[in-house]
Amino acid sequence: MMLTAQVVEDLLLRLSEPVLEKELVSLAESLGRVLAEPISSAVDFPHWDNSAMDGYAVRWEDVAAPLSPAPPSRTKLTVIEEIPAGVRPQRSLAAGEAARIFTGAMLPIGADTILIQENTERDGDSLQDGQARRIEVLQVPSQQGEFVRCKGDYATAGQVLLAAGIRMTPAMIAVAAAAQCPQVWVYRRPQVAIFSTGDELVTPAQPLAPGQIVDSNQPAIAALVRQWGGEPSCLGIVADQPADLREVMAGAIATADIVISTGGVSVGDYDYVEQVLAELGGELQVTSVAIKPGKPLTVATFRRSGKSVLFFGLPGNPVSALVGCWRFVYLSFQQVAGVAEPQLPWLTAVSGGLLRGDSRRDCLLWGRVTMTDGQMTFLPVAGGHNSGNLINLSLANALALVTVERGAVPIGELVPVLWLDL
Ligand code: AMP
Ligand code: MG
Repeated sequence: MMLTAQVVEDLLLRLSEPVLEKELVSLAESLGRVLAEPISSAVDFPHWDNSAMDGYAVRWEDVAAPLSPAPPSRTKLTVIEEIPAGVRPQRSLAAGEAARIFTGAMLPIGADTILIQENTERDGDSLQDGQARRIEVLQVPSQQGEFVRCKGDYATAGQVLLAAGIRMTPAMIAVAAAAQCPQVWVYRRPQVAIFSTGDELVTPAQPLAPGQIVDSNQPAIAALVRQWGGEPSCLGIVADQPADLREVMAGAIATADIVISTGGVSVGDYDYVEQVLAELGGELQVTSVAIKPGKPLTVATFRRSGKSVLFFGLPGNPVSALVGCWRFVYLSFQQVAGVAEPQLPWLTAVSGGLLRGDSRRDCLLWGRVTMTDGQMTFLPVAGGHNSGNLINLSLANALALVTVERGAVPIGELVPVLWLDL
């Protein structure tokens, strides 16, 4: 039965189970890994009140402009110490006093406002070691607390800064580093077994006889799995023979978290994948999905040690195989990897041309999203859009979705696009 893409998505999220094993990795190794334990900090952020500018730490009451009667003569303040970043202030401010301070430096007790240096003038007669002993206030700060980053403004001690189930990005690594976590707990990488089926296939290193083609799916899918943060294991090319398929499939199901095969899921005489899955005790969940390219999609589940193993039988056509991974396998993969909220990277772009769909299946057109005249614009890549054309697929950075209901997307209209540059 042909299912809609949405039904397949929901099914995949219900069927996929997260790996449970955790490992401790260094912060440097945590990029792209999924956090298995939340990260919090023992201290507030900022750790203490500090200055956001170079200038003088002052007491608001000393510098605030009196509302009445007439403006007084300019305020003068005595500079009692200099506080560079990283140095603990030695004195607290009393009335009429200021401390020279620099960006990031700790405020002295008593100070509550920063007077930026541009709004001051050195009192010329009071130099000592080239530093002003007195300053004159040229312009009053606009409010109490101006240019002070207050202790705990960004986060308080004990608060969760990074939740379990997020995939570590460089900015998150900054947070973990600031929280003084040189090592973090992550889920182990999902093991993804990959093989290609087809009597016509040779490896990229083998000579090509007439009628043969190179297995391009396996290296592409292995690379994709690596990009997602998984650990691919390539099982090679399997002949269109039930016995050969059975052996490789049984081995993969016994060891991997996810198995991906390409080829052999259409209705041809040599398409044995479904048959062998059933023989091995797999529960067939999906056999076809209403998208183009990629209609023949086989998903089966197996139980192993109380957990589910997902088998994806993708079509052999190179475009269909990759589209199947981007559109469906990635969701399952995230769930298996421990991602708390698996999501596909959908964006909205303006169509830069007429996008023609199909009357029976939702179409995914491969093309490029670029920033053009201030707008995210999608244009299909040039050349034939058939599922065998892996050459122009390589130029794409996004897939535009033209649903059956829309039929076509005129130039200038918004269209959902699946972003591929992860
Ligand atoms: P199939 O899904 O097995 O019917 O294959 C559909 C088309 O994809 C055929 O033209 C195959 O030659 C081609 N094909 C199958 N497997 C691969 C592969 N691993 N790499 C590149 N092309 C493939
Ligand atoms: Mg085949």
